[in-house]
Amino acid sequence: MPVPELDHNLLSVFNEVVRRNPGETEFHQAVREVLESLGPVVAKHPEYADAEVIRRLCEPERQIIFRVPWTDDANRVQLNRGFRVEFNSSLGPYKGGLRFHPSVYLGIVKFLGFEQIFKNALTGLPIGGGKGGSDFDPKGKSDAEVMRFCQSFMTELYRHIGEHTDVPAGDIGVGGREIGYLFGQYKRITNRWEAGTLTGKGLTWGGSQVRTEATGYGAVFFVHEILKTSGDSFEGKRVVVSGSGNVAIYAIEKVHELGGTVVACSDSDGYIVDEKGLDLDLLKEIKNGHRGRVSEYADRKPGAAYTAGGSIWDVACDIAIPSATQNELDADAATRLVKNGCRIVAEGANMPTTPDAIRTLRAAGVAFAPGKAANAGGVATSALEMQQNASRDSWTFDYTEARLAEIMRSIHARCLETADEYGAPGDYVVGANISGFTQVADAMLSLGLI
Ligand code: NAP
Repeated sequence: MPVPELDHNLLSVFNEVVRRNPGETEFHQAVREVLESLGPVVAKHPEYADAEVIRRLCEPERQIIFRVPWTDDANRVQLNRGFRVEFNSSLGPYKGGLRFHPSVYLGIVKFLGFEQIFKNALTGLPIGGGKGGSDFDPKGKSDAEVMRFCQSFMTELYRHIGEHTDVPAGDIGVGGREIGYLFGQYKRITNRWEAGTLTGKGLTWGGSQVRTEATGYGAVFFVHEILKTSGDSFEGKRVVVSGSGNVAIYAIEKVHELGGTVVACSDSDGYIVDEKGLDLDLLKEIKNGHRGRVSEYADRKPGAAYTAGGSIWDVACDIAIPSATQNELDADAATRLVKNGCRIVAEGANMPTTPDAIRTLRAAGVAFAPGKAANAGGVATSALEMQQNASRDSWTFDYTEARLAEIMRSIHARCLETADEYGAPGDYVVGANISGFTQVADAMLSLGLI
């Protein structure tokens, strides 16, 4: 599949990004993916080029890198690196999660922060884009070690964040436990109970109903909208969801509620297949109960099979929802999905599909929903958490879920309308990139050269 060419101006922006950010391949990939959609926009709107909006958008407003020392349970000193990239605050305070995973370095944080700008714009809510994290690996650490790490991390981060400045949340390796320790340390240092400083909080101390479920539910709501465009539904559909973390578990839950059957999920060691449909209670007990591995599911569930290593994308399905990590679905996997009859791929994770794989899927007529649209439900519900915190209110589960469903419907409609307007009907990549971009670009023009 040939790589699309960029016009002269966009190519020069891309080359500059590569030159100024050497070795940050994930960031280059995320920028290129957006630039490939923008040709028709810059042709129609020369004002963006005149004000160098795209070049400015590719340079974070602020990048913070810091040392995170902590002691393990054997009283040995450990050292990690912390990051917060405050990418763009044209639409509101920087907003985006924290990732704790050994693979984290500046290029990963920047790719996530860059994507976050457009995703947050698509929600229609007043939030800018940012992302952060650390190369700390919570896997195998005791609660006390995770707490000491989080306290040390926040001891630097606290001076850069705040409800009107920058509002972090969770991501890979950062769930309710970590947000609790981070918020506790923020409160202790600042002597302020400022709920709006972090989202993903516990329900008894400022959190929002549905935030835990939101990214997975939102991705499935988005697929539901895709299905509705052809008068179809989840009823009788066979679905594969990769990963078994926060996004995956709640994507599985919502697919089952809507009448589909999820037959496979995974972790970084392998995948499980349960032809009768995954038993979500058992999976939750293993993952949420004691942070176990998916292999345990096959040990405990008759008829389920575990494959160590391998590719979950070998499992035939109608709908695939990659929900683990970046670049987990490559061109070979996409070819196998197409061959096995897959009709929809929706990204629950951020950038899980490689550029070659996206081209393969689109060429085969598979409806492809990019993460910045399909997984925007998490950050949208974080913004709803901020709204509740600001008004010292708390909404019911049903009301919050209805708001989430409405936001996902609106993102879906916005993507299709924009794709139509720019001559690419049904193309969710073009729709999401252009719609998110123009909203941020117009705000940047209004705010002057800052
Ligand atoms: P999580 O709860 O930590 O779960 C991550 C899952 O992905 C785990 O099953 C993990 O398996 C697997 N995984 C992680 N790194 C992997 C790798 N290198 N290879 C294979 N599998 C890997 O994280 P999450 O919050 O669900 O996030 C999943 C994805 O969704 C990420 O791309 C994240 O950026 C994106 N996302 C999350 C949110 C949110 O609200 N949480 C919002 C938008 C987008 P192991 O346990 O074996 O590591």
